[in-house]
Amino acid sequence: MTTLLRVSDLAVAYGHIEAVKGISFELQAGDITALVGANGAGKSTTLLALSGLLKASRGKVEFEGEDISRLAPNQIVQRGVVQVPEGRAILTTMTVLENLQLGAYSRKDVAGIASSLEEVFALLPRLKDRATQYAGNLSGGEQQMLAIGRALMAKPKLLLLDEPSMGLAPILVQEIFRTLVAINRSGLSVLLVEQNVRQALKIARQGFVIETGRIVLADTGAQLLADPRVEAAYLGG
Ligand code: ATP
Repeated sequence: MTTLLRVSDLAVAYGHIEAVKGISFELQAGDITALVGANGAGKSTTLLALSGLLKASRGKVEFEGEDISRLAPNQIVQRGVVQVPEGRAILTTMTVLENLQLGAYSRKDVAGIASSLEEVFALLPRLKDRATQYAGNLSGGEQQMLAIGRALMAKPKLLLLDEPSMGLAPILVQEIFRTLVAINRSGLSVLLVEQNVRQALKIARQGFVIETGRIVLADTGAQLLADPRVEAAYLGG
């Protein structure tokens, strides 16, 4: 196994309040990794720090052996770490195609962008059917797919997802998780933040449980699913 991302003693504060209190974990290349925990545990804050959108107050983030913790968000995207934001952040008055093209803003390889678009349409065919429609007219599930498609247009090596199943009907939740598995099979590594702990751990090889800014459990997804502590706290056991 090859370590893709190494997070060491990462802390992030909002003013005087430390939301992430010195966490350390590693992601292996080719994996789906889940970071799960309750509302307010620090999952989103962690992702925002990995993307460079929030500054760490201490600690280090290494991607493919390079310290990326002081890089600007666009530089981090160029290294191949791309986030699908919580709440999707779709541009509703632009078309589906325009939203996808925005995802490739930092790329110059015109032919590569065109082939990425074909890959996204193959993976998410409904986006192709709706390419010329305003993104605001898509359903919630389709908007989530568009947010994922837009991130893929940046040609990521590691995709960071913040609660992709949030607010979706169960059938769409299943579809999102199936899509993530397909994306992973195509060769991308995935870091998935979820409150839907059961589904996330089911598809993740490795998982971490975060509580009030600290990682309290780390194991394979299967082991965590079977762990009575996880069961009691997150699976309604
Ligand atoms: P959620 O599922 O609600 O997004 P989370 O696990 O992602 O939960 P965070 O959003 O990272 O949790 O929040 C961690 C802590 O930081 C919480 O106590 C939260 O209230 C606090 N927090 C988050 N954003 C801010 C902010 N902009 N200013 C101050 N405190 C914040």
